Amino acid sequence: MEEKLADIRKGFSDFLERENALRTALTLFDWDNETLAPEAASERTAKAYGILSAAYQELFAQDGLEKIFEEMRAAKDSSPLERALARRAEKERRKLLSIPKEEYRRFSELTAGSVQKWSLAKKQDDFASFAPVLEEILDMQRRFASYRAEEGQVPYDVFLSDYEEGFTQEKLDAFFEELKQGILPLVKEVVQRNKERPVSCEFLFQSFDTEKQRHWNKWLAAYLGFRFSRGVLAESEHPFTTSLHRDDVRITTHYYKNNLESAIFSTIHEAGHGIFEQGNDGEVTQTLLAGGTCGVHESQSRFYENMLGRSRAFWEPIYGRLQKTFPEQLEKISLDAFLKAINRSQPGLVRTESDELTYCLHIIVRYELEKRLVGGELSVRDLEKEWKRLYEEYLGVIPKTAAEGVLQDVHWAMGEFGYFPSYALGNAMAAQLYVHMNREIDLEKLLLAGDLDRISGYLREHIHRYGASKGMEELLCEVTGESLDPKYYLEYLKKKYA
Ligand SMILES: [Zn+2]
Repeated sequence: MEEKLADIRKGFSDFLERENALRTALTLFDWDNETLAPEAASERTAKAYGILSAAYQELFAQDGLEKIFEEMRAAKDSSPLERALARRAEKERRKLLSIPKEEYRRFSELTAGSVQKWSLAKKQDDFASFAPVLEEILDMQRRFASYRAEEGQVPYDVFLSDYEEGFTQEKLDAFFEELKQGILPLVKEVVQRNKERPVSCEFLFQSFDTEKQRHWNKWLAAYLGFRFSRGVLAESEHPFTTSLHRDDVRITTHYYKNNLESAIFSTIHEAGHGIFEQGNDGEVTQTLLAGGTCGVHESQSRFYENMLGRSRAFWEPIYGRLQKTFPEQLEKISLDAFLKAINRSQPGLVRTESDELTYCLHIIVRYELEKRLVGGELSVRDLEKEWKRLYEEYLGVIPKTAAEGVLQDVHWAMGEFGYFPSYALGNAMAAQLYVHMNREIDLEKLLLAGDLDRISGYLREHIHRYGASKGMEELLCEVTGESLDPKYYLEYLKKKYA
């Protein structure tokens, strides 16, 4: 019996090692595609990516794996982590094997090349050229969802469960309805106030030397607690984070010559993700449970970006440094004026540039659209028109270009339907966590002292170390004693904007 168990354990660890090697190769391709690869590389590289993805799928089709996973879960001496890993591996196995080989390879090739096609269409402001690609991606994803759907599951739920387990379309409908009811009246108030007393922010949009921005943002990421001995900060069209393991974490930002705040808040956001990845325990990193679940991941990046990164206590010790970096532009701008500007609210067109108050409305637009796309109630052909209609309805603005409208985000180009809600769930979790943390540690005092390590230490201890072995509900219940409740987020917004 014991010998048999030893064999199973060996089979499991062999599988995990090979799984990790292939996933690492795929991750590096993704990283390269979005950062350094020249546009011309797209087609040829996509083919190699497709073959590697097929090998990844084949790995899960190996004889006997189902039994290995099952026995690892059942064995008395399996650790909780081993059980969680076996459960996660089985979920992935079912997902991958439900899709016919040829279709899976085709989809991987398609999405490896589609990001560059999206990027080009965005540059040329041409949705029509990208629409056929998106149509094929959507068709395939809808088909995959139908292969995978369990009884009673709508197709969109299949994708939601990939990003944050336990959150269904039904739950999210209620969650977003509550957010809408709370946020829309506040936005109305803010728009009216802006008319009477506009907030001055033009000084953030002067000309800022890109090299100086690079230098400043690198310093900022390190100040926040991102360790450059175990990570890098690069540039990409759409800022993002990826990692091979906790000692090789990669974040990106994007510099605009005429916009100082864009790179700063992208850097803070991605550093939040990066600190999470670097804070994984040694035993979860480099496994299928590395990183964190999507909603929890976004809660950390939004926590750094907003709760910390837009507060007075955060900027008080470092604003002088920013002024010194850009004396011409900021010497005469007081900290008060700077804080007002970075905390202004104004309904706009672009999600990643939006303020805390209107942010969730951007998500609600995407949620409503992708739910209908996946459900087959909306076609790609009508997507741009519907996008404009919903922006007008919720935010009172209509994009003039596709680049500022339907083409602004990379997610759908990667086939990621169902990811967007993670941002809103993350916002709500971040606010709930913030209230709780303030009872346990004096965040303001730590920020004023520039002691960001104590803050990341708290987060590592309670959240980051577990990677994706615990989901949002489990973590929230453990840390705050309650499950997710959007009231904290709405109260936070009311306090700040009413
Ligand atoms: Zn993020």
